[in-house]
Amino acid sequence: MSLFLGVDFGTSGARAVVIDEEGVILAQMRHPWQNGADWLICWQEALWSLLAQIPGQLRSGIDAIAINGTSSTILLTDSAGRPVDFPLLYNDPRGGTMLEFLKTAAPPKHTVLSATSSLAKLLWMEGLPNFPQAKYLLHQADWLAFLLHGQLGISDYHNALKLGYDVEQLCYPQWLEQLQIPIQLPTVLAPGAPIGELQPEIASKFGLRRDCVVCAGTTDSIAAFLASGAKLPGEAVTSLGSTLVLKLLSRTRVEDARYGIYSHRLGDLWLTGGASNTGGAVLRKFFTDEELRQLSQEIDPAQASNLDYYPLLTPGDRFPINDPHLPPKLDPHPDTPREFLHGLLESMARIEAQGYELLQQLGADQLTHVYTAGGGAANSTWTAIRTKYLKVPVVPSVQTEAAYGTALLARGYHLY
Ligand code: ADP
Repeated sequence: MSLFLGVDFGTSGARAVVIDEEGVILAQMRHPWQNGADWLICWQEALWSLLAQIPGQLRSGIDAIAINGTSSTILLTDSAGRPVDFPLLYNDPRGGTMLEFLKTAAPPKHTVLSATSSLAKLLWMEGLPNFPQAKYLLHQADWLAFLLHGQLGISDYHNALKLGYDVEQLCYPQWLEQLQIPIQLPTVLAPGAPIGELQPEIASKFGLRRDCVVCAGTTDSIAAFLASGAKLPGEAVTSLGSTLVLKLLSRTRVEDARYGIYSHRLGDLWLTGGASNTGGAVLRKFFTDEELRQLSQEIDPAQASNLDYYPLLTPGDRFPINDPHLPPKLDPHPDTPREFLHGLLESMARIEAQGYELLQQLGADQLTHVYTAGGGAANSTWTAIRTKYLKVPVVPSVQTEAAYGTALLARGYHLY
């Protein structure tokens, strides 16, 4: 029997899924992040912990493995793959100081023109004292896959998009080459393409097969999209995780750096999307997951809360409102937690609808269906509220775990 392992390094923890050829889930593993830990140690521990948790009888059946990481989480390594400094996480804004310079190099509105893009971060990293020891720039998913297959300098065209890689022409553009950054940019493969077999010591340590293939990965939000079941233009996936991420499948490519809108390549189609800082992290500030479940059941989604919030943890959003100083709006605070939650869920649904409207205004196909992934997907009250605002069927994703979508990528490795 052929089995496939998908590993997800998301914002709140790492997860893994083993599936068979039919896509049936045979095992699921989790490893939460520890607060305050060194990220690089934490990621390695998570990877080893997930592999160790795979039920023994499945391990020798695993044909291929793929890993997804958070988009634009990058690190520099030396020629042996050892990190030379701390990684910059997906939401780290320090690359913002390089934007003025980057605007003089990159085409207008390019997706790299954002404080959190991999390229802005890489340019900022050039100022690190350890930069001269760096040989490779890797994304989180690239480095974790490297720990398994041992080959450096390889990425996929989902992770490489925000590095400036041209996903239409499948090459680094000339303007990027001209920056002459003294670092080896990754060789870019199609997500799911086979990279190499497991390193022998990893295979024997975890009881995995020596000929188990490690594939090129993807990003966490694309992985969630792949898991959802959405396939046709007009079909979308909203990821209700710590943040609110929208992805709409379209025949046209839509890009607008002002709103952080960009399109990923997905076969012959484009996966266009944007991400808002609103989302589950704000809910978690005020409620436990159990409170969210209980209070949501007490909310009548047919009633209006008459509350108009813009829920954020800190000022600033980019999509669907581009304002780095946008203040969190959480007033007025109603008398009961139920009413407060009602207002939060409605306001986030309003922001979601505004997001899809913006994508369509910019040229994406008309929205027909919304699948839902992430921690908020199970909330049926929220689904009902969202259906009201989105005005299209809101259906559950076939699977909501990004790890599942990544396992599907691993399953397709023999297509390359
Ligand atoms: P991440 O993006 O961190 O991987 P998850 O997809 O695991 O996030 O989702 C976690 C988020 O889901 C939390 O921020 C939490 O507030 C939210 N969440 C959990 N349960 C519910 C619920 N019943 N209704 C709405 N949101 C929920």
